[in-house]
Amino acid sequence: MANVKYVPQEIEPRWQRRWDADHLYRASVDATREKLYFLTMLPYPSGDLHIGHWYAMTPSDACARFLRMQGYNVMFPIGFDAFGLPAENAAIKRNVHPKEWTYRNIENMRSQLRTMGAMWDWEREAVSCDPGYYHWSQWFFLQLYKHGMVYRNKSPVDFCPNCNTTLAREQVWGDDRHCERCETAVIKKDLEQWFFKITDYAEELLDFTKLDWPERVQLLQTNWVGRSEGAHVTFRSEAGDPLRVFTTRPDTLWGATFMVLAPEHPLVEKVTSAAERASVEAYVAAAVRQTDIQREAADKDKSGVFTGGYAINPVNGERIPIWIADYVLMTYGTGAIMAVPAHDERDFAFARAFGLEVRPVIKAVDESDSLDGETMEAPTTLSGTMINSGPLTGTPGDRAVACTIAWLEDQGSGTRAVNYRLHDWLISRQRYWGAPIPMTYCDECGVQPVPEEYLPVLLPDDIEWRPTGESPLKYHPTWKHTHCAVCGGAATRETDTMDTFMCSSWYQYRYLSPSYDEGPWDPQEFSHWMPVDIYTGGIEHATMHLIYTRYFTKALRDIGLLDFDEPMLQLRNQGIILGEDLEKMSKSRGNVVAPDELVAQYGADAVRAYLMFFARWDQGAPWSGSGIEGVSRWLQRVWAIATQLADAETGVDASGRPARDLRRKVHQTIQQVTLDIENFEFNTVISALMELTNALNAARKVGLVGSEVYAQGVDNLLKLMAPVTPHIAEELWGILGRPYSVHQQSWPVADPAAAAAEEITLVLQVNGKVRDRLIVPADISAEAAEERALASEKVKRHLLGREPKKVIYVPGRLVNVVG
Ligand SMILES: [Zn+2]
Ligand SMILES: [Zn+2]
Repeated sequence: MANVKYVPQEIEPRWQRRWDADHLYRASVDATREKLYFLTMLPYPSGDLHIGHWYAMTPSDACARFLRMQGYNVMFPIGFDAFGLPAENAAIKRNVHPKEWTYRNIENMRSQLRTMGAMWDWEREAVSCDPGYYHWSQWFFLQLYKHGMVYRNKSPVDFCPNCNTTLAREQVWGDDRHCERCETAVIKKDLEQWFFKITDYAEELLDFTKLDWPERVQLLQTNWVGRSEGAHVTFRSEAGDPLRVFTTRPDTLWGATFMVLAPEHPLVEKVTSAAERASVEAYVAAAVRQTDIQREAADKDKSGVFTGGYAINPVNGERIPIWIADYVLMTYGTGAIMAVPAHDERDFAFARAFGLEVRPVIKAVDESDSLDGETMEAPTTLSGTMINSGPLTGTPGDRAVACTIAWLEDQGSGTRAVNYRLHDWLISRQRYWGAPIPMTYCDECGVQPVPEEYLPVLLPDDIEWRPTGESPLKYHPTWKHTHCAVCGGAATRETDTMDTFMCSSWYQYRYLSPSYDEGPWDPQEFSHWMPVDIYTGGIEHATMHLIYTRYFTKALRDIGLLDFDEPMLQLRNQGIILGEDLEKMSKSRGNVVAPDELVAQYGADAVRAYLMFFARWDQGAPWSGSGIEGVSRWLQRVWAIATQLADAETGVDASGRPARDLRRKVHQTIQQVTLDIENFEFNTVISALMELTNALNAARKVGLVGSEVYAQGVDNLLKLMAPVTPHIAEELWGILGRPYSVHQQSWPVADPAAAAAEEITLVLQVNGKVRDRLIVPADISAEAAEERALASEKVKRHLLGREPKKVIYVPGRLVNVVG
């Protein structure tokens, strides 16, 4: 037996087939055990599994396996987020049908995923481009529509002229506003679109009290929702039209010396005087061509024009000029601002550029002289005592905002208000490779939902998918023609498809029963497994997928489809593996590490263990392959130890110190590995396992191989390794004649007494007479023993203040102080 060599390439596929055949990881509803739904973010079928997938998924698998050995009924599913732009773009580039390309990639990635040896329950696999899946994406759309949570609106949208599609705000990147897929500069376009009312949930999305999620994700989501408190104040044009503004500084209202409207504001035309009309129209035409980011940029020269119109400030009845300027956006607040140049950076710059009045109404604490609007060089933006503010003059800074709001509400000219940066979720895409939006248009009856019994609205295969700027479905010869469900007359289908983030907002529910066809999920499975207990994936999803899936669950709750508030209770993010050149891995840079090659050379177990070992999981690191040899040698050592044990005689007596040391090391390792996996600290898991291996090696050299404590040490090592390196642990477990499978074993429990350091009693003498006794670690150094002896009160007393002349240490027994 001892000369059987470790050949991972032979044992790994064999065990993968066996586990599969035995349905070892099939998770079933079981009321007798505590359930645990462990979910890792599903891959996009881009074609190849990369090292990042391994880095994210294999530690997640190790953690799921660990929890399973601890006795939880663990479900660990996998599937594919298979609709979307990259598939379509790749299809266009290679002239392959997107469907063919996608399913071919899925097939390839399935076999790559299997080489990981992860405990996925493949019977729960769900693929979002399967009609059996998107049937329910469409059904959810209809439920949201019926409950008034969806609306259609013509609005300016970000549009990529290269990809020929509208983009969600988060798909537009950088100050130059480029498309996240192709980096082309994005333009604005007006289209009729479907929106989900995610803004109705803005406040609830800020509540993380039910979640164990990383602080960073909470912060990113909080900023994304962008809540600010203040007041809505209604100014009026001279013609009496209300001009509502949102301000976070109502305490500066008496300092408003002009108003600024966004160029697109609906009242611009009405307030503009005949004299100013030409310059206003020219300015509006130029402004709408720019992007929001260009318009908001802080370092940009202020531009704007006077409309010739005036507004009345409700707090003092003052008549102030109305300007338009491109730094005011229709998409934030109300598209109109009151300008308070004395106390706002942008308003100040604007006022100085156009010679408008600056009037201080706040006295900052440390200013002894009152400010002079004519000469001040910068605005003061801090709070402070209100001055020049009519009835509120003298209100101290800490109460200024609250007092002003109360006063405004009293006067009927303003109300307390909250504003959010979050926009409603635009879900229409002018693309082919997505779930068709199940709506129809009838000349008689208008917009009508497709009746549920006609779902799914199938995506046709025979399509010219190359983009033309509008949905390819529009140009299909027959697809869009249908009958109106209300009058039976001719109707046309919605030709836009859904944002793929819609499909991935609910995949965690489809995994429960992927072939169930009476609803999106089997209620029995649902009530057992939901919600997800642990979710792992990249932090780059903090503001898209992770907000959408939370929103979606809350919306389904309010429709009455489920009864909890959050889809995923605990979230853990892995870091990123960069290329060896410290750059992001990409084919064009040539710094991509192919996991398949590493698996072929070292085996999956070595790759898994190495990925857990070489970096802190939550931090990531640049790739370095040099350490994988060391991990591979560790596995060889484990192999040698276990196979030698299989051949060894038993019954060796082990009552001495080396046996106690080994037993202690085993229990200390159990303690550490347990704690570290719970904390997602996998690098220290591997080093602890390596140390235990070394301890076993040392024990072997002193003849402990045939002893009970040695055999228990090896058994425990294999159990502790099982989540990390599942194949070698299973193989060696079998070679040792232990019952199949190591993955069905209970996780070892440390005995704290055995793990504690061994202790001895040290006798303390003064001039040869016993004066005290100390309990110390068995391996205490001479230095430490002497120090402890001299610190003893009893020793000090018997020295009678004399300096010790000599200290004699007899290791493990006594310290004699001569003085
Ligand atoms: Zn693009
Ligand atoms: Zn009709």
